[in-house]
Amino acid sequence: MNPLLKKYRLLVWIGAALVAGFLATSIVGYLVSIKSVRHSIGDGALPLTGDTIYSEIQKDILRPVFISSMMAHDTFVRDWIIGGEKNPKKIARYLNEVKQKYGVVTSFMVSEKTRRYYYVDGVLKTVREAAPRDAWFFRVRQMTPDYETNVDPDMANRDKMTIFINYRVKDFRDNFIAAIGVGLTLDTMVGLIDSYQQRFRRNIYFVDKQGDITLAGKAMDKMRGSIRSQPGIADVADSVLNHDARPTRLEYVLKGETTLVHSRFIPELGWYLIVEQNVEDDIRPIRQALMVNLLISAGITLLVLMIVLFAVKRFQNRLESMAATDPITGLLNRQAFDIVFNQSVLDASRSGAPMSAILFDIDHFKQVNDRHGHLAGDDVLREIAQLIRGTFRESDVICRWGGEEFLILLKACPLPKGMELAEKLRTNIAEHEFKWGADSLRITLSLGVTQLLVGESQDNFFARADQALYRAKNAGRNRTEALVPPTTGG
Ligand code: GH3
Ligand code: MG
Ligand code: MG
Repeated sequence: MNPLLKKYRLLVWIGAALVAGFLATSIVGYLVSIKSVRHSIGDGALPLTGDTIYSEIQKDILRPVFISSMMAHDTFVRDWIIGGEKNPKKIARYLNEVKQKYGVVTSFMVSEKTRRYYYVDGVLKTVREAAPRDAWFFRVRQMTPDYETNVDPDMANRDKMTIFINYRVKDFRDNFIAAIGVGLTLDTMVGLIDSYQQRFRRNIYFVDKQGDITLAGKAMDKMRGSIRSQPGIADVADSVLNHDARPTRLEYVLKGETTLVHSRFIPELGWYLIVEQNVEDDIRPIRQALMVNLLISAGITLLVLMIVLFAVKRFQNRLESMAATDPITGLLNRQAFDIVFNQSVLDASRSGAPMSAILFDIDHFKQVNDRHGHLAGDDVLREIAQLIRGTFRESDVICRWGGEEFLILLKACPLPKGMELAEKLRTNIAEHEFKWGADSLRITLSLGVTQLLVGESQDNFFARADQALYRAKNAGRNRTEALVPPTTGG
């Protein structure tokens, strides 16, 4: 593993956990929002629009069905046909009255006997079986239901797309004698489509069974021809034209923007009603929210990492200092001293300055413990450390060598000076009154002093200091002994 990565493994893990957590919640939130927008539009708003338009169509068709039914059962109409269709002006006036009274765009009657097509101005033409435009009449005369709705261009009204209600007229013995009815343009529907398009930015249009666009709002005048050739919707054209009466929910993507499509078959027209909406405007704020979320998450992650880094650094520093110092006296311990010592030797050999060491041991320390307890012993150790600090320079290195032994490394200090300082410490301690409760303790030290020989090993140096200390002990304690280093290294 990369050493840097290893050092900051905790940070990497915390960062990874935060990033993963934030990413997961942000993305899940984003997906849920997108899904709910799609759901509310695709399964709510679009079908609702479809339903409204469909019910509007049914309403538009229902009224003319009633009118046509009334016409088919009108005794005047039947009498006039059975009476030999004399005086066409009479039926024309009747048709005109219906047209005026009910506000339909056209009213008509086609006789079975004469095949004449009557409208508000009299006879328009005679229907022929061979003419495709007259096919509806021959369908109506054969059919079983009383009426049909049929969408066709209206010849009597500049070929506008018109819904016709074709009602069968029967004589008093139930024989088919004519087809009668009214027609109305899809203008109201177009108005409805336009208002929906403006209000909800929805595209609404009708296609026939082949997929040719039959009717669209004004805003969609550009849309002509088959949906199979319109970019986007062409991708789902097959599913739209599924000849299924149940509404279908589809979607396509054009230029990276998603459009939801709702399509339903309108049996009365034989057309599909298609309602579509580009959901980009609804999804964009969610995408922006995701970005803001991710930014905030990144900020929080950075902040947390910084706090953790700071805490870890502090904790590490504390651990390091705890590892380097002795808990009772706060002095350097043996391990930490080794590092400092090596550095000091390097400095000394570079500058050529002499370096000395004082190693001392507390005399009869066991008795202190035995008489006054361990806590008193600890207290004495602490106080001695304090006194050493007061006696030596900041640059001198003081170490708790072990038990009740201490070592002081004196930088830039020749042996006589070291000897002098050791004596000063010895007398300071010997004169100091150590208090323990009501008791007053007297403590003495035995000290060994020596100087480092250039190029000498650490072990040799300290062994000589130890030897000097041993001499001091043997010579009766509470004294300082110095050992001059041999002139030749060894
Ligand atoms: P001497 O003059 O020969 O040095 O006699 P001494 O009693 O000081 O020597 P000895 O080595 O027999 O005893 C040292 C004692 O120091 C024994 C040990 O319990 C005590 N000691 C070592 N470390 C600590 C410490 O951290 N706290 C306390 N209270 N006592 C300690
Ligand atoms: Mg001792
Ligand atoms: Mg000892």
